[in-house]
Amino acid sequence: REKVNVIGIVFDNYTKKEFIQFFLERINKKEKTFVVTANPEIVMFAKNNPFYYKIIKKANYVVPDGVGVIKGAQLLGSPLAERVPGFELMLALLQEANLNQLRVYFLGAKQEVVEKAVAQVRKDYPLIQIAGYHDGYFDLKDKKMINEVQGTQPDIVFVALGFPKQEKWISQYLETAEKGILMGVGGSFDVLSG
Ligand code: UDP
Repeated sequence: REKVNVIGIVFDNYTKKEFIQFFLERINKKEKTFVVTANPEIVMFAKNNPFYYKIIKKANYVVPDGVGVIKGAQLLGSPLAERVPGFELMLALLQEANLNQLRVYFLGAKQEVVEKAVAQVRKDYPLIQIAGYHDGYFDLKDKKMINEVQGTQPDIVFVALGFPKQEKWISQYLETAEKGILMGVGGSFDVLSG
């Protein structure tokens, strides 16, 4: 399906199921993949920030998150297949990671939040290999975190630093990464940890 441009951000026009299929194919081929789940806040922020806009342009997949994006596409006469909330996409990926015993790294949120989120994942998705986890309060410019995560050879890295931090970090990570699905998930660890 053709991509849809909503005020400068070019969305991939797929259903949640289709996105997951593409991600799994890329994991199998060991291709690195940058996923942005763009809600209206991200679209507006990118519009006003050329540096962030350039980063979003590097994404392999831009997922339509938020009703505002769906409504916008409709008004522009090029409707999107469906809304794909970032949290739901993360849950669907966790399910697949469990089925395929993938290696998953969890980066971001406060120490106790990420710990609780990982404990919940261990309980709900016992076959996932936890590659590692770390809180989100570190110096973004410090390359140590990038090396640490890459050293664990993750198939998927969920990055919960909020935007625009998470996308900035992911774009740096991918400069030297060999593989992995990298996805910014905002406040999702807070939800996951209950
Ligand atoms: N966060 C972080 N490091 C930071 C700033 C924020 O790990 O330097 C975490 C914060 O603890 C929270 C998430 O990022 O878990 C931000 O969630 P928020 O809902 O603000 O992000 P959004 O969904 O709006 O991108």
